[in-house]
Amino acid sequence: MTGFSLAVHGGAGTILRRNMTDELEARYHAGLRRALQAGHEILVASGSAMDAVTAAVCVLEDEPLFNAGRGAVFTSDGQQEMDAAVMDGATRKAGAIAGIMGPRNPILAARAVMERTDHVLLIGPSALQVARDAGLPFEGTEYFFTQQRWDALQTTLQMRRHGVDDTDPARRHGTVGAVARDTHGNLAAATSTGGMTAKLPGRVGDTPVIGAGTYADNDTCAVSGTGHGEIFIRWNAAAEIAARMRHAGQTLTDAACHVVMDDLGSNGGSGGVIAVDAQGNLSLPFNCEGMYRGTVTQESGFRTYIYR
Ligand code: ASP
Repeated sequence: MTGFSLAVHGGAGTILRRNMTDELEARYHAGLRRALQAGHEILVASGSAMDAVTAAVCVLEDEPLFNAGRGAVFTSDGQQEMDAAVMDGATRKAGAIAGIMGPRNPILAARAVMERTDHVLLIGPSALQVARDAGLPFEGTEYFFTQQRWDALQTTLQMRRHGVDDTDPARRHGTVGAVARDTHGNLAAATSTGGMTAKLPGRVGDTPVIGAGTYADNDTCAVSGTGHGEIFIRWNAAAEIAARMRHAGQTLTDAACHVVMDDLGSNGGSGGVIAVDAQGNLSLPFNCEGMYRGTVTQESGFRTYIYR
């Protein structure tokens, strides 16, 4: 197969139909579709997988419905701390930022780390400086704030005060991501998140941890995850999918389903992944009620889904 493939996600969790209005559902589909279109425009013109996944993730970061960039969730002390990563399957170069707030598109800050420094993961003032040096636009708290995420924080904190753990994934987390194979056969992955509602300040999830929530390697696959980050890190989720393909000869679908259903699902790691292999096959397994997701390939049109 010489064609391109692209998949995007906008987070996974308990997406209950009864909490969804027709209008809201239409907005989710429209957001996913816009992200696919942004990536498709690049891939159809023989652009790179890296450009396509970055463009798709920027669209999702700009849409306040999703927990990344504008609309990121709040920490327990009411701040927003964002994590993002990109990985290029051709070179295995990667860039990531963690715990930052300021760049309008954290994914571009992650890409700047990959392209402008000798490092993979930056935090704190130097992560922001790299973004500034790259000329990326910055925004203030009023841009990133959404009432819905603020209310979710209040609910979670209230439950904590009553000794109840908030295990509702719909309220607690979300993430956005994209994976692509371009017409040159190169793979790339990009993931961006606000993390989990009421996380401790300084908590870093799986998204910027290469091999946990983000991974790309031309020989095997590109993966972007969403779900309970601590479990993704402990089970090395994204790299495990690639390892199963490399060492056990598994197909993308077998490897991704095993990791999502058995490794993560059996160990309290609710969530899912989107993944593409070197031939452009796509796999989008999740172990919870729904995952905002979409695909487009050279052969097929734009498809977006929420539930099973
Ligand atoms: N994986 C993200 C994190 O733990 C959250 C999510 O994808 O829902 O930070």
